Formats: sequence, structure tokens, C-alpha cells
Amino acid sequence: MKCPFCGSLDTRVVDSRATDSDDAIRRRRECVKCSQRFTTFERIEEIPLTVIKKDGTCEPFNRGKLIAGLGRATVKRHVTASRLEKMVSDIETQLKNEFKYEISSQELGEMILRHLKKIDKVAYIRFASVYREFKDIDEFMAELEKLQ
Ligand SMILES: [Zn+2]
Repeated sequence: MKCPFCGSLDTRVVDSRATDSDDAIRRRRECVKCSQRFTTFERIEEIPLTVIKKDGTCEPFNRGKLIAGLGRATVKRHVTASRLEKMVSDIETQLKNEFKYEISSQELGEMILRHLKKIDKVAYIRFASVYREFKDIDEFMAELEKLQ
């Protein structure tokens, strides 16, 4: 970490503690060269995931909407809401680990299918047969909303 006073790269951490809200680590640093002290914060990088729709428009990834749609697709199957939550979290984690912050709605649909296949075969077939006709998760979700 470069010293803001003299520009030296030789600094050391003298104190390290969590912030009151526990969402960051506050570090007190001291420059070895000029002895000035300064503070740095370390926090989780939050970059929203963007879904690119078939018509080229973008919208932020909406976790709640996706889980609600999947809930309708898995009606009367033994797939709990928490299982769907976990599935969507796994997808989000997978994308973040790949540093992928943009995904096409088609790609997202295929990812959902791969995960659903492992969870419930019937729900998968039901989802796949309808989804593949639409080739687009947004159209498919819109159709599911009509079924409500
Ligand atoms: Zn310095």
C-alpha cells in the first residue's frame, strides 16, 4: 500500500480491526520511510450481475424474481424454497468465481437447467420442455407468471 504522504511502498500494518458494522476491516498503517500513519479499509467487492436479454437490453439480476419463477415451475414437486435459494446462490457464486458479471438470458437459462437436472428430474423436464420452446428465460418467466 503506497504511503499517501511520501509515496513510499514500504508501509506496515500497526493495527487491524473490524468496523462496527462488521462489513469491513479497518487497518492502521505506518509508513516505514516517513512514519506518517493512515487508514485503509478492506471490504467485499459487490458488483451487480447483469442479465442481457434477447433483445439486447440489460437488467440487473433479480434473485427474488428468479426464485419465484422457479417456485412456480416446481409446483407439486419435492423442491423446497430453500433448495431453490441454494441453487440460485450456487449459480451466483459460480459466476462470481469466474469473474463473470454479465450473462445472456439464454446462458442463464441453460445454467438453471443444468442445476435443476441434479435436483429434480421431473421439474427439469417440465422446465426444459417449456423453456426450450421460448429459448429465452424472460419469455419463459413471463409465461410462468401467466400460469399463476
Ligand atoms: Zn511515507
